[in-house]
Amino acid sequence: MDIDKIVDEILEVVEAEREDVERDLKKFLEYGVPLEHAKEAIINKYGGILKEKKLKDIRVNERGICTVGKIIAIEEREVEVRNTKKKIFRGLLGDETAVIPFTAWKDFGLERGDVIKIKNASSSEWEGQPRLSLSEWTEIEKLDYDIDLIKRAPKKYNLVDLKPGIANVEVRGKIISIEERSVNIGGEIKKVFSGILADETAKIRFTSWKDFGLNEGDVIKIKGGYIRKWRGAPQLIFDENAEVEKLDEEIIIEEKPIPLYKVVNAGGGIDLCIEGVILEIRKDSGIIFRCPKCNRRIKNGICEEDGNVEGMPDLRIRALVDDGTGAVDVILNRELSEKLLKKTLEEYMNIAKEAMDYGIVYEEILDKLIAKPIRIKGDSIQSDFIVTIFAKSAEFISIDENKEADEILMQLEG
Ligand SMILES: [Zn+2]
Repeated sequence: MDIDKIVDEILEVVEAEREDVERDLKKFLEYGVPLEHAKEAIINKYGGILKEKKLKDIRVNERGICTVGKIIAIEEREVEVRNTKKKIFRGLLGDETAVIPFTAWKDFGLERGDVIKIKNASSSEWEGQPRLSLSEWTEIEKLDYDIDLIKRAPKKYNLVDLKPGIANVEVRGKIISIEERSVNIGGEIKKVFSGILADETAKIRFTSWKDFGLNEGDVIKIKGGYIRKWRGAPQLIFDENAEVEKLDEEIIIEEKPIPLYKVVNAGGGIDLCIEGVILEIRKDSGIIFRCPKCNRRIKNGICEEDGNVEGMPDLRIRALVDDGTGAVDVILNRELSEKLLKKTLEEYMNIAKEAMDYGIVYEEILDKLIAKPIRIKGDSIQSDFIVTIFAKSAEFISIDENKEADEILMQLEG
């Protein structure tokens, strides 16, 4: 029998002189005490100075366990022991290394959030894992300080898959832009860093509440960020609880269309490139009149803010664009509308005046745009019912027509 190994095991649990433990162990074994009992007796003998174990080091079927942990969850249960009902407590105990289940066989007055020092507990097996058992012989002391709990590993995401509400994300990206500003939070001036992060799949606005020394062009990995909605698009936020690491690699940012269901899932986005077919022209498209003072849209010459004003005509289109996976609204300003319609606002004003009907412009927009495939680049804006993209560029595409023409040609040739 390997006495040394068993003495090592005992010395892992208790603080005692090696020669004392060895002498005691030999004596027990000479008297024919089974090994496990001998070990337990010796641990109990030196039990007053048990070594504290981290939760990850607790194994199945140990005795004399001394540890410190925080009650993460606890609930009362009633069990039957030898035909009598008994109150027990089950819960989870955590420290910075692990979270393990426990059972308390008496009421120690434990509550969620308590940090406790445990002396002389034992462990059993539960679904292949150790479970701590707090018995009549266990001593519990409540501590007046807090301890850190083991952190869940963050989940990896591509930027295109981030949506408001998710937390503890790991992302990687290149800083396209960054700027520093100061904000006043309850009298304290804090530095905040905001900008745009990009990976191969998308771009996202970010805000960092800590100075990580980031610069434009840095490729970084962020662990422990979370996502909020801001100005109608997801925003990545990270602070002193996050880990930020600079990576020695390059990210090539290509502009390729994002499937619309992803845009819809994310609730919007910035610098989006999308493609789809125009399925509907919203009724508020065409010639509208704006207040010369506040630029709001006015009706019958009256601005909500400024009263009676001389309205200035403007041309805009709001269109429903669908790519078969999802749909968004797109707003085209005067410049893009004129480009797509190949007529200017002045020309439309003349047409409308001649017809004495502004509705004629809407009819023409329908004729020219409906069912047309289009590519849009832009940012989503705050909107209530549907993701709405304010276009920065717009162009008709004819991929499908080309493909169709190719196929017809091939059939003719073949
Ligand atoms: Zn106004």
